[in-house]
Amino acid sequence: MVKGPLKLRCPQCGGESLWSADNKYRPFCSERCKLIDLGAWASEAYRVPVQESADPLSEPPPVE
Ligand SMILES: [Zn+2]
Repeated sequence: MVKGPLKLRCPQCGGESLWSADNKYRPFCSERCKLIDLGAWASEAYRVPVQESADPLSEPPPVE
């Protein structure tokens, strides 16, 4: 049985990522993907509108 670094899928780009001590960006494959994900989180939080009793799921679809 071969024991190697656990391979997983990068949640950001879907590419191959290694779960190892060498990969400090795990579960992402690279610093770039990690930063993108953090940026997405930040912008997502930034976009959260301050509304009273607004259900984000009941938002109408964007009109083209
Ligand atoms: Zn990636």
